[in-house]
Amino acid sequence: MIKAIYGTRDILPTNIHQWLNLESIIRKTMKAYNYSEIRTPVFEETALFSRSIGENTDIVSKEMYTFTDRGETSITLRPELTASVVRAFIEHSFDKIYNLSKLYYIGPAFRQERPQAGRLRQFHQFGAEAIGCEDPSLDAEMIIMAFRIISALGLKSLTVKINSLGLPAERDYYREKLREYLKPFLEKLSAESIKRFDSNVLRIFDSKDERDIKIMSSAPQLIDFLSESSLQHFETVKNALIAAEIPYEIDPALVRGLDYYTHTTFEIVSNSVGSQSALCGGGRYNGLVAELGGTDAPGVGFAAGMERILLACENENVFSVSPDALDVYVCRINNDFKNDAFQICLKLRDAGFAAEIDYLQRSVKAQMREANRLNSRFVAFIGGTEFLEGKIRIKDMPSGTEVEVKSSDMESLIRIIRKD
Ligand code: AMP
Repeated sequence: MIKAIYGTRDILPTNIHQWLNLESIIRKTMKAYNYSEIRTPVFEETALFSRSIGENTDIVSKEMYTFTDRGETSITLRPELTASVVRAFIEHSFDKIYNLSKLYYIGPAFRQERPQAGRLRQFHQFGAEAIGCEDPSLDAEMIIMAFRIISALGLKSLTVKINSLGLPAERDYYREKLREYLKPFLEKLSAESIKRFDSNVLRIFDSKDERDIKIMSSAPQLIDFLSESSLQHFETVKNALIAAEIPYEIDPALVRGLDYYTHTTFEIVSNSVGSQSALCGGGRYNGLVAELGGTDAPGVGFAAGMERILLACENENVFSVSPDALDVYVCRINNDFKNDAFQICLKLRDAGFAAEIDYLQRSVKAQMREANRLNSRFVAFIGGTEFLEGKIRIKDMPSGTEVEVKSSDMESLIRIIRKD
């Protein structure tokens, strides 16, 4: 038997409503904040990701699904969507058309990681990007919007962590200071962190190694090396979060180790999903558009993992109710009127109702069992003497009351089901 690829999952009809509910909250919230949806291809030229995410990151160095296609082009299944959105922004000259582009996406991403709870090889992200403006209100808007979406599901144990990375020059100076601090401890760091000492010293903050964490806890903090104007940017973000009543904490270790990040970084973490606790991460990336060959347009954005958010919902027992109850089940009393029943069922569907009929020659009792299983609001009985007399009996399932309408009078039947 051929099975789904390790680390990928089928989303089955039994829980699709959880996804639809999340997607509908995303779309509603994005509309409220005036973000428009963009859909980009799931594969891109490999160079797009190595240039934007960076050769030194885990994603690019060991997790991407990369292959050479028949035209000898190196292709990669997208490991995230920001790079693709920025590529599309540049390719379609959005910077010349709009002063500010507010875009959102929902879709799959691919990383060859070791699967575990909340970590898959094909997973789904939604996210937003605002490109073209440096206003710190937009940094705050991202955090507020992500928090509103995740809390609208009913999740409670959330922590918003924020930090500021300032400007590249400030970070360069800080990197020197950090290396000076780390030099005496160099031999005590993990092998991975020793490698990062030269290549990407800030990322030592991301280490999960106990020894590294202990050494880093007394390291100088970037925030102390920021200029007045960077601190002012951060202050504005914090004030906007306070006004929006977003509970946040400052996490000086939240340093995304990429050069194009500037000012704000943030993460929304759940305390109910175990080790893979980050539901969402984002920040300002004023250098990225230029890095990918566009104009010097500043941007800010976030990406959130949908499987992880739904796992948190499961662990916190917050479920959306399945909306897919059937409006009407057409129950055939005897086979003589099989075709009439089918035609009535089709008319009900044309009128916009969710309607079903039996295809398996089941008894009336078995059809009623099916109507109950499908959670049907009404059952329309077709057949028997009443149909010969030109009548359809309709049962309101929750109350058990029954009424009859003329079989030629579809309008009345529709009115009853519509309850008007
Ligand atoms: P990142 O681009 O790594 O900051 O990821 C953004 C969000 O995507 C994370 O906060 C997670 O919620 C989610 N995510 C990242 N990698 C995976 C994965 N392998 N499986 C499931 N979700 C993921």
